[in-house]
Amino acid sequence: MAVKVIDEKCIGCGACIRSCPFDAIEIVNNIAVIGDKCTACGACIDVCPVEAIFKEEEEKKGVDISEYEGVWVFAEQREGNLLNIATELLGEGRKIADKLGVELTAILLGHKVDPLADNLIKYGADRVIYADHELLNTYTTDAYTKVICELIKERKPEIMLLGATNIGRDLAPRISARIHTGLTADCTRLDVDLENRRLMQTRPAFGGNLMATIVTPNHRPQMATVRPGVMERAPYEEGREGIVEKVTPDLTEADIRAKVLETVKGGKPQVKLEEAKIIVSGGRGLGNPEGFKLIEQLAEKLGAVVGASRATVDAGWIDHAHQVGQTGKTVRPDLYIACGISGAIQHLAGMKESKCIVAINKDKNAPIFDVADYGIVGDLYEIIPEIISALENVEDVLEAVKLNA
Ligand SMILES: Cc1cc2nc3c(=O)[nH]c(=O)nc-3n(C[C@H](O)[C@H](O)[C@H](O)COP(=O)(O)OP(=O)(O)OC[C@H]3O[C@@H](n4cnc5c(N)ncnc54)[C@H](O)[C@@H]3O)c2cc1C
Repeated sequence: MAVKVIDEKCIGCGACIRSCPFDAIEIVNNIAVIGDKCTACGACIDVCPVEAIFKEEEEKKGVDISEYEGVWVFAEQREGNLLNIATELLGEGRKIADKLGVELTAILLGHKVDPLADNLIKYGADRVIYADHELLNTYTTDAYTKVICELIKERKPEIMLLGATNIGRDLAPRISARIHTGLTADCTRLDVDLENRRLMQTRPAFGGNLMATIVTPNHRPQMATVRPGVMERAPYEEGREGIVEKVTPDLTEADIRAKVLETVKGGKPQVKLEEAKIIVSGGRGLGNPEGFKLIEQLAEKLGAVVGASRATVDAGWIDHAHQVGQTGKTVRPDLYIACGISGAIQHLAGMKESKCIVAINKDKNAPIFDVADYGIVGDLYEIIPEIISALENVEDVLEAVKLNA
């Protein structure tokens, strides 16, 4: 939008200058001139006594959206293993494709990862476009961007979803910039408006204080990255059939500006919260950072990963990588044990989809008990050692049974 003056009508009265909050108007030769500071707020239009000012609609640039069809998901793999996010995106992509009545396509890039293509069909894809090339063996931004952009230009999908993983967060903006379309990063909910086939892309905004739903009305594909662990994984159907299209992309070394010389695993042990089957989380109720030693002991006994509330992360008791919640990780393990966590809405946002929730809290009115399947009211420093000792007893019994067998 731009604000314009009809020179013939302007009487140079200056009413617009006084109304402008941005000091963007001046009178030149008895005619109002709108300068660069204008934000098109329209205050001057309302006060002009001779209706000499108006807003000009800019021509909407975009693409012919009717040419675009189908839902694509990027099936991320590392060293020949599909990431959980790939099946999570297939689960969500399937729902969206069914609502729109279109095909669900998985985009797989790599080298000699043929078995993954068949798996993607079994996880719900109708079609897999598998780009196989030795230069795709290791992820590079240039190669992956080139291959996917060429596929998009050729086949025109209406929606493309990627995981908000390190690779997804690197790749998605490069693709969207090259294709000239919008991208909503880090979505926690997706839906479609069937009236206009728009993807409703919802994500936390303003530090998680509100949820924003974003649409891409004039450009295609509608692109979004989705947080790992948020969407339900697609079920695996053994007999499922679909089309696997193996393509050999036109790629050379010259297309890739960054050379991967060596892959070095990070020194810090990775906190794989999103993939954990059991999580034991500690909150401010621990009272001090040493409390996490007890949480670690219980986690070790259960083969669990340690989670944490933001209060403990903010206090510097534990690294942010452990944080569960709206501004941390979203998890859905089989078992989530919340110890000394009150159950603030932002914490629940990250764990309430867990299959079984056990809460230990000394306040029987703590909101965590509203979502808990099992609640233990009491001091965690009494209860957790008892659970650990009970688990040790079980281990001893099992050991004895094994010895006697
Ligand atoms: C924009 C925004 C984003 C946020 N994002 C997140 C997020 O991602 N994750 C998150 O966790 N929070 C988040 N928060 C913070 C959230 O609102 C809460 O402040 C936080 O979750 C509280 O952490 P807590 O439950 O550990 O602490 P508290 O609320 O202080 O709860 C401590 C609990 O421990 C219990 N307790 C105390 N002593 C014992 C004991 N000895 N034995 C048993 N129980 C005991 C108490 O009864 C109490 O219920 C966010 C907040 C905002 C505004």
